[in-house]
Amino acid sequence: MRIYNSMTRQKEELTPLEDNHFKIYVCGPTVYDLFHIGNARPFVTFDTLRRYLIWRGNEVSYIQNFTDIDDKVIIRAHSEGITPKELAEKMIDEYFKDADGLNIMRATKHPRATESIDDIIHLISILFDKGFAYTTDDGVYFSIDQFPSYGKLSGHKLDDLIAGASERVSELEGKRNPLDFALWKFKKEGEPFWASPWGDGRPGWHIECSAMSLANLGETVDIHAGGVDLQFPHHENEIAQSEAATGKPFVRYWVHNGFVNVNYEKMSKSLGNFFTVRDLVEHYPYHILRFFILQAHYRMPINFSDDLLDAAVTSWQRIVSSVDLLSFVANASEKIEVDPAKERELTEEIATCRFNWQKAMDDDLNTADAIAAIFDLVRAANTAATSGAVSPETLLSARDTLIELLDVLGLDPTAEKEDKIPDDVLTMVEERTKAKKERDFATADRIRDEIQARGFKVEDTPQGVRVIPLGS
Ligand SMILES: [Zn+2]
Repeated sequence: MRIYNSMTRQKEELTPLEDNHFKIYVCGPTVYDLFHIGNARPFVTFDTLRRYLIWRGNEVSYIQNFTDIDDKVIIRAHSEGITPKELAEKMIDEYFKDADGLNIMRATKHPRATESIDDIIHLISILFDKGFAYTTDDGVYFSIDQFPSYGKLSGHKLDDLIAGASERVSELEGKRNPLDFALWKFKKEGEPFWASPWGDGRPGWHIECSAMSLANLGETVDIHAGGVDLQFPHHENEIAQSEAATGKPFVRYWVHNGFVNVNYEKMSKSLGNFFTVRDLVEHYPYHILRFFILQAHYRMPINFSDDLLDAAVTSWQRIVSSVDLLSFVANASEKIEVDPAKERELTEEIATCRFNWQKAMDDDLNTADAIAAIFDLVRAANTAATSGAVSPETLLSARDTLIELLDVLGLDPTAEKEDKIPDDVLTMVEERTKAKKERDFATADRIRDEIQARGFKVEDTPQGVRVIPLGS
């Protein structure tokens, strides 16, 4: 498999340092609110990468943190009249509700900043000992002048950055370089704090991720992932702190997903197009959001809008209908006259789908093309199923291929099937069939209309009567 490495700016062969064992760190949410669709994208994307690496026969150690102490957490907690800890606990529960809905696997471990204070203090101590850290009136800072390769990930020219930062006076106070960033912030009135060798306070944001990555995955991880907005300064700072402390490469592959837009504009609170996942699931189910996210290549910008999400609903229903149809026809009792040419055709389509799907996934996790390969099989399988000339075994093989490949994407076309068709509707279907046999077409039509009024349609196929929800 090849993956685009933001550090080298090219696709590279993806191999783990340790045989068949990938170590992945994904920057997790700051738990002050429900997570928004800009967060949903990296969580879904890198969960899919993890699932694919597992499907390829690897073990994956997957760490995703919770930033549970931070300005945003403190401010929101104060405004709600609860402690930052209470707010964080509540929002971590809410995170798991949405993450479970989106079928994001639980990380191997979800470390929290507040539970990693010892690791953080240990790391800052090393940076002090090695001359990379200094104190000011308000905290402990990392001195980027001591780390000559600063800027290597983002490719920013340091002089330009320094000139920009120098204009913002707030970034200058007491610092040796305007780009120096806080490792430890001294306590302020009313804020939670922990004791440290430099004074009571709390960790800076960047040091948390370095400390949690080093503590849980060792000095060098295979993949460190997040949204492209984290590349600078967050990931740049993580590299500086980690490599300054260990003297080893921190990350082998930096992987970043592209921007999320809403209604063709950058998502922002001021534009009024800022949505949490919870907002969207009022209109679209979780699995549609996941499917929608994966329909785009992860490095491309993605745009959430009603028309595109509606199109995703329709596309997804085509897959679900196909899987239903294949099961239905394969399990029908009617004898099938197998046509060897049609049989061979579908067998080849199954192999082609698998081949193209894997080729796409191997090429920088191209889920867009992988889903296109799935639709090729959907089309071929629908034709085969309605021809009445392909064996149940081959139809089921097509169905199981669709289910297996979608499962690697974290999608299940057989979900929500339980009790999907209510008993009384099934009884109506039987009555209609009986009426038709008795050539009482007026009654049959009346019952059909009643079934439709209940939200289902009946289809007469060569293999018998099929009931499906309207709209599929
Ligand atoms: Zn991070």
